Amino acid sequence: MEYIDIEGMSDEEVDGRIREIKARLGSRVFMPVHHYQRDEIVQFADVTGDSLQLSRVSAKTDAEFIVFCGVYFMAEIARILAPPDKHVFIPDKYAGCPLADYASIDDVLKVWEHLDHDDFIPITYANSHAEIKAFCGENNGLVCTSSNAAKLFNWVLGNLKKVFFLPDVNLGINTSEALGLKDYTIVDGSTSDFSGINDKNVVIWNGNCPIHRVFTIDHVRYWREKEPEAKIIVHPECTPDVVKVSDMTGSTAGIKRAVEDSPAGSRWVIGTELNFVERLKRQNPDKFIAPLEDSICMNMSKIRRRKLLKTLIRIENGDYSEEVVVSSEISEKARIAINRMLELS
Ligand code: SF4
Repeated sequence: MEYIDIEGMSDEEVDGRIREIKARLGSRVFMPVHHYQRDEIVQFADVTGDSLQLSRVSAKTDAEFIVFCGVYFMAEIARILAPPDKHVFIPDKYAGCPLADYASIDDVLKVWEHLDHDDFIPITYANSHAEIKAFCGENNGLVCTSSNAAKLFNWVLGNLKKVFFLPDVNLGINTSEALGLKDYTIVDGSTSDFSGINDKNVVIWNGNCPIHRVFTIDHVRYWREKEPEAKIIVHPECTPDVVKVSDMTGSTAGIKRAVEDSPAGSRWVIGTELNFVERLKRQNPDKFIAPLEDSICMNMSKIRRRKLLKTLIRIENGDYSEEVVVSSEISEKARIAINRMLELS
């Protein structure tokens, strides 16, 4: 096997090697890349998207190797949806999601014991561990993303059931408030008082995304004064007070669409991950676009060109030791919850 000094190579040499290997592998390799990735990775994307879009394409690809450039729970979703003979990789297995880490299966099961199982349907945001998705699949529940959360809450409530929502408190409250639901309560692994919990229509897990909780009402005030003509659009993982004083909320794909569909000269201030906002800015030079505040997801940013090259070299050498593995038991149950979402959205 040829020794390659990847660390000693220039960025251009690394990019050249990635292109060569991708070209040699051709349609055998497929690279879905999340919108929050750095440009150095986006340049190699076969498709870019948010988690819902990437879940859909990962389920349909014929490629033998899926190299998922995002965070670990996304690579897990690709693994769960892809046929068993496919191999799924992520260039850095330590690119986790702090929001997902808020809900461990042990803590969730402790709370679940106190809920009326005939009434409550668990919904987990896609930003969760595979075990939580499996728990939902096993209990007539489903997965959601920020673009379809309201629709899936309505589906549960329309079936005269109640929502047990995991793990993002902000998305849970923002979705409930948008639907006019005020009788929600918040729980987590430390909750000890469950009195009256089964009278609530929505029970929400107390996790949050450190990247989106950075935005404050003061940031909104600052931009209102500085750019009074600008529309302020924020992701629903932002805190409810920020959502309330903003003009609009949108999922990552929704924000992209709103900006791209707006006329030349439009002015936008955007409250979401910085890599994505900066790219939108470059792609829409005829519009004013500014981040509500600089907030980078360091986990998304762990995926770098040299790690990608190492992954592709391993694939070419037939070394699958680093592939993403989800047990068949967890996969089967989680797939039920993900497919329910895909059918309903
Ligand atoms: S932006 Fe937030 S929710 Fe998304 S991967 Fe990073 S930590 Fe997780």
